[in-house]
This record gives sequence, structure tokens and C-alpha cells, in this order.
Amino acid sequence: MEKTESNKSIFIFLSILSLVVLLCFSFLFWYLIEPRIVSFSKYVAFGVKIGLGIFILGVSGGLFLIVLSALTEKDFLIPYGKKQITLKVLFPINLLLAKFFGWPKGKVIESFVEVNNSLFKAAKKRIKNDRVLILLPQCLQKFDCPHKVTANIDNCKRCGECLICDIIELKERYNLSLAIATGGTLARKVVVENRPTVIVAVACERDLTSGIQDVFPIPVYGILNQRPFGPCVNTKVNMKKLESVIKFILNGVG
Ligand code: SF4
Repeated sequence: MEKTESNKSIFIFLSILSLVVLLCFSFLFWYLIEPRIVSFSKYVAFGVKIGLGIFILGVSGGLFLIVLSALTEKDFLIPYGKKQITLKVLFPINLLLAKFFGWPKGKVIESFVEVNNSLFKAAKKRIKNDRVLILLPQCLQKFDCPHKVTANIDNCKRCGECLICDIIELKERYNLSLAIATGGTLARKVVVENRPTVIVAVACERDLTSGIQDVFPIPVYGILNQRPFGPCVNTKVNMKKLESVIKFILNGVG
């Protein structure tokens, strides 16, 4: 699969900047509260100092491993779960900084998805591929199709008017699970019912970002949908990319 360094660099740059901001605030916080805490108890002051130090070391170390893994696509994530803690702390600060610079939120989220996908590839050896779920948004279905594929994918009559039938064909060829969700709540329900070991999710920036974080620790490869008719209507997905991701998950090539 192709690498997208330029996309990743936005999120990585903002994450490093966020870390600097976090460090500054931590030192300022400590500077302001230290005299009061020391006058109360020097043991409590010592405990707060150690706690702050562990927090800063954890986030800094986590970010270092994430950047290294995202850039090289080699697995430096030890343990795997740390990336979520670090990204959860830094992600909202990244968005605030992007707003400060006047950068579009969509670009930052797109970059986050690229970083997530690089970490996915880096951690490939840890991913179990026995239950692969392809999760699609309902807007991929033709707007006026009368067949309710969210209830049952087999309701699709395979008329070829939208990409649903092509994706069903992929599901059958590679023996995967496939579900279409109308929103975050239904997507989470589908994940609980299917118990996948790995997910390939197609969605818009917003749904992908929340979805990737919601289903943790299940690894998710995110593919942004294409919106030639605007958001939420008759959207598309790059079928070559989708198949390439499936092949990568199943065989390690794509
Ligand atoms: S392929 Fe045809 S029947 Fe199937 S979901 Fe799309 S429009 Fe409906």
C-alpha cells in the first residue's frame, strides 16, 4: 500500500507541538501549586511531583514511539495500548492548535487517519485476521434504493447502481463479515455482535475518528469515503484501495 508522508506530517507536527504545550502547562501548574502543597505536606508535594513526572514521561515516550512507528511503519509500540492514551490526550489539543493556525479541521482528521493506518500496518504482526469485518456507512447505498441493506446485507438485489454489490462480491470472495451502519450507535452494536478481530471501516472524517477511538482495542484500518454529490448522499469508496487493504490484512501484501 502507498505511503502518505505529507498527510501524516500534519498530525505528527501538531502532536509534537501539543506535547510542548502540555509540558509548559504542567510546569506552570507545578510552579503555581508547589508552595501551597509544600506548606501543607512535603510528602504530598513529592507524590504530586512524581505523578506529574510519570504522566509527562508516559505521554512523551508514547508520542516518540508513535512517531517512530508511523514514519517507519515498523512496530515500536510497546505496549500497543499506549498509543491510545497518548493520542487521546493530544488529539483535542491538536484540534485547538489547528484552529489557532487556521488549518481546516478536516485536514487534521485526515492526517490522524493516515497516522492510525500507518500504526495499523506497523502492528500488523499482532493483528489476528480470523474475523475481519468491513464496516460501511449507509450513504454508500444509492439514495433512493428501496432495499433495506442496513437490516440485512442480503436484501441488496445487486443491480449495480451503487458500490454495495461490488463490496458484497469482495466479502464473498475473501470470506469476510460485512455490515452497513447508519451511525455510531449502530456501528458499535454491529461490532459487539460480530466480535471482529480487525475492522476495515469506510466513513467520513468525523465518523472514522470517533469510530477508531470507540472500538479500541480492536485495530481499525480507516478509509475515507469519497463525496462527489456532497456529504451523506451517494458516497463512493476507492475499491482498489479497499481490496488492497483486505489483501494486506489476509496475506500481508496489498
Ligand atoms: S446495488 Fe442496487 S439493490 Fe444493491 S444497494 Fe445498491 S442500489 Fe440497492
